[in-house]
Formats: sequence, C-alpha cells, structure tokens
Amino acid sequence: MLNIALFGPPGAGKGTQSEFLIKKYNLFYISTGDILRSELASETKLGLEAKSIIARGGLVSDEIIVQIIEKTIKNNPDANGFLFDGFPRTFVQAYILEGLMIKLNTKLDLLISIEVPEEESVKRLLLRGETSGRLDDNDEVIRNRLREYDEKTKPVLDFFKEKGNYKAINGVQKIKKVTSDIRKAVNKELEKKQLNIVLFGSPGSGRGSLGRAIAEKYNLEFVSTGDMLDEEISKGSELGMQVKENYENGQLVSDEIVIQLIERKMKQSKNAKGFIFKGYPRTLVQSYILDGILMKHDAIINKIIELEVDTLELVRRLDNRSKTDQCMPYDTSTAKIVRRLEDHTNKTIPVIEKYKEMHDVAVVNGTDSFNDVMDRVSVEIESSFKALD
Ligand code: AMP
Repeated sequence: MLNIALFGPPGAGKGTQSEFLIKKYNLFYISTGDILRSELASETKLGLEAKSIIARGGLVSDEIIVQIIEKTIKNNPDANGFLFDGFPRTFVQAYILEGLMIKLNTKLDLLISIEVPEEESVKRLLLRGETSGRLDDNDEVIRNRLREYDEKTKPVLDFFKEKGNYKAINGVQKIKKVTSDIRKAVNKELEKKQLNIVLFGSPGSGRGSLGRAIAEKYNLEFVSTGDMLDEEISKGSELGMQVKENYENGQLVSDEIVIQLIERKMKQSKNAKGFIFKGYPRTLVQSYILDGILMKHDAIINKIIELEVDTLELVRRLDNRSKTDQCMPYDTSTAKIVRRLEDHTNKTIPVIEKYKEMHDVAVVNGTDSFNDVMDRVSVEIESSFKALD
C-alpha cells in the first residue's frame, strides 16, 4: 500500500496535484471537503450539520471527519492506497490518522506540504470563486479559512516533521514543475519501501531452506532467530554464553536476547529490500514484540505465509532427516519430534490464528518437490512486491 496526505492552505493546488497522484500511483482519493460538499448537496443529516460551519470557513468536528473517513476506507477494502486531501487538518486528526492506519495494518508514507504564501492563496481562491460556485470561495470566508489554517492546521506539520515522513514542495511554480517535484518525493519514498515477510510452518515443513532460497532470490535479509543464536554460541560472544547457559538449563532463550539480535540485524541491514522472518514469532508474546520492533523501524509486516504439510509427512521428513548428516540435536528421537510438533500446535498456531484475524495469511501447500513449493511461494512474494507500489 502507498498512503499519501496532501497538505497545504486552501488554494495551494491540492486538488490539481491529486489528479496526477491518483492516476500515477493508482490511489483512492479521499477529499474530506468533496465528501462534505456532496453530503451537503444531498442534504443528509451530516451535510446539514456541517453546512453552517463550512459556510463561515470553520472546521467541521473531528467526530464527523472520523465517520466519513472510516466509512470511505471501509467501502474500499481493495484500494492500492489512499490519497488524503484536506485531512489531517488539526493535530488531533494527525493522531486519528495514525490510529486509522494501524487499524488497516498500514502507515502514512508521506505527507506532502504544498507551500504557498497567504496573498497567493487569496488571489487564487477569488479567481476560483468566479466559477466554482462554492459558498466558501468569497473574500471574507477565504480570510477565515486561512486563519483556521494558520491556527489549527499548521501545527499538523510539526507532528510529521517529528516523524520524518514529511516533504515541503514549493507551490508557487508552474503546475508541471510542482507535479514533477511531488513525483520525485514519492518515488524516493517508494524506493525505501520494504517487504517484510513472516514465514510459518511446522518443523519439517521446509521453512528454513525455502526461506533462505526466497531471501536470496528476492534480495531480502533472512532472519532466523535459531541460526542467529547458534552463531552467537559459536562466536563465544557474551550473548552466546548467556544463550548456552539457557540451553544447558533447558530454559527458553530470553526475549531480551532475541530482541537485541533482531534489532542488530535490522540496524546492520538498513538498505535491505526487506526481511523474511523464520522461526519468529513463535508465541503470542513474540508476535507483539515483533510488531514493536517493526514499528520502531517504521516498518510493518506486509506478508504472512504458512506452509502447510500433512502431519504424517512431517514426521516422515523429520525421521528421514534424523538419519542424515543434516540431523539436528532435536531430531534424534521420536519423542523429541513429537514434542516439537506439539509445541508448534500449542504455541505457534494461535499466533497464526491471530494474524489471520488481522491480515491476509497465504496458506501454501508445502508438499511436492522443493521447486514446486518454491514456485508457489514466489507467486505470493511477487504479488506482495506489486502491492508495494
Ligand atoms: P476543502 O475542500 O478541503 O477546502 O474543505 C472545505 C471545507 O470543508 C473546510 O473549510 C472545512 O469547513 C471542511 N473540512 C474539510 N476537511 C476537513 C477536516 N479534515 N476537518 C475539518 N473540517 C474540514
């Protein structure tokens, strides 16, 4: 998804620039002003409530705005992304927007602020007023709208400046030049977009070898917490010693250690196209931790894949592996294999269920040859890459 907010005083050219953005990036346009005007024209309850406020150039209540935005988003579940025009208009609405984005498991990628001095806005709006038929395009109301903009809307910029996803564009240039500046800003943002995948599957489902192959094929960073822990042990690092102690005492490795390892990996891979997580999260607690880590890096989970393999086939595979030199310490007896499968059912399946409620989980048939399964997973990954832009 790509979500953009167009920001700027009345008359900055947001409407004009939005036409380009909608077409170029296939976005769904949400102009709170347009929606309010159409409610007003149809004389709905909401429209009537907003009428006098719009007529004097004031701001409609946040409650009304939330209702119309939420309704529009809900009615367009398959949108490739949203373009907000005229929202957020108060710093309270900036928080509301963040909340709405979390609900959609997405984020606002960029707030584009088209900057135009007050006298230029007045000039343009008076000119527009000659033909627009809008009840708020006259001198007195225009001044009021600009005052509201200065007092209530401008503080929104501080919110996004602090977050860093804000870009100012000079709006007093030829329309084409403004468009090309906007295009550059959006493309730069798109380059930063990552694809973060969580790959689930029972032990023996092939998630390790597939995850590694997918990471290589699509230039993603492979994050296997199990591998990272083993690496620390073999390096003999301080973390490794703690992990070893946990292993020897039969304890689970603490979340503190795993968080540090994932954080380190993410920091070292700042320019990665994305991450593919294997073997993490394994529990509900870890699923919240992963959300927290990604949030901190301003990232989200874009794709969840569950490899599905029949239990008898899993036992057969793990038993076969135990007879090869790829045998893992935890493959050596039937009792151990059963315990691992049980652990997956009891602890990890609830995590997958949680994700199924929130996101689309792609369930991929993990039987058949490695290449066949690789093809199936590749189709999923490619569709997610497409959805990014
Ligand atoms: P616009 O077409 O964006 O210039 O909006 C026209 C009028 O609709 C504004 O002057 C406000 O009265 C109202 N309005 C539009 N969007 C919002 C918003 N996000 N919050 C409050 N009022 C809004």
